[in-house]
Amino acid sequence: MIGAVNVLWVLAHPEPRSLNGFLATEGQRALRAEGHEVEVSDLWAMGWNPVVDAAGYAHDPAQRFQVAAAAKLAHESGALSADVRAEQEKIDRADAIVVQFPLWWFGMPAVLKGWFDRVWLQGYAYGLRGPDGEWIGYGDGFLAGKRALVVVTAGGPAWSYGERGIHGAVGELLFPLQHGTLFYAGAEVLPPVVISGADRFTAEEGERAAAELRERLRAMPTAEPIPYRTQNGGDYGDDLVLRPDVAPGSTGLGAHLARRPGA
Ligand code: FAD
Repeated sequence: MIGAVNVLWVLAHPEPRSLNGFLATEGQRALRAEGHEVEVSDLWAMGWNPVVDAAGYAHDPAQRFQVAAAAKLAHESGALSADVRAEQEKIDRADAIVVQFPLWWFGMPAVLKGWFDRVWLQGYAYGLRGPDGEWIGYGDGFLAGKRALVVVTAGGPAWSYGERGIHGAVGELLFPLQHGTLFYAGAEVLPPVVISGADRFTAEEGERAAAELRERLRAMPTAEPIPYRTQNGGDYGDDLVLRPDVAPGSTGLGAHLARRPGA
């Protein structure tokens, strides 16, 4: 990803005049000033429906609704609802994806979770095989060759999200999104932009956060991704468990990093 690219910016915040709204505007302006194209999915503004249901997959109500299978069938037969198809087309056009949200109960707002649930469906985002028929995931997938950046604001102060902070290390809190979703889909996931202590921000602190965000966006094409281990790179056995000789004794989420980020 070098030169001018297409960026999809997915935003989940209900208020455009919020800190998140300000950061989104500033970030998108900075990308456009660098010559990038930016498409925006502002989920609240779009009235995004986050709820998976049978109707969205044109599923026959007389039949038992098996979500993944129904989604795959709808995807393959062109029966997906128009809102889901439009989001998939935006993803397909993008070279990089920014996912921005305020941390709510240590995760993403429900509307954003529902964007992933409805759009990243079987046959499009998972359940895929490579050219040799092998199952792909974690380092290869429909986002292969694309970059992803998470931008998150949090009320808690920076130290409470450190390695020994009470809320847990931020890289671990974001693991389901960054590793289980974005990296699983094949994206190169960049270290997140974490704006902590946000609830008490002054205007100056808001400006400083915007400057940090602009800097991180400028570096997006060349920044070093988080060094997650790839599924089919040799570190895992066929059972998807780390081989005994890989990071022996290391357990937990950190074991899936090939080295400490930045090391
Ligand atoms: P806003 O409320 O819009 O603004 C925050 C501050 O920034 C305000 O003081 C505002 O004046 C100031 N500000 C400075 N510059 C600007 C500017 N240019 N434009 C607008 N405002 C500016 N936090 C956690 O740490 N962990 C949690 O698990 C968590 N769970 C939550 C669950 C819920 C349901 C909610 C509502 C909040 C939760 N929070 C949590 C706090 C939440 O993460 C923060 O409230 C949020 O990140 C702040 O971002 P915002 O855009 O909503 O800020």
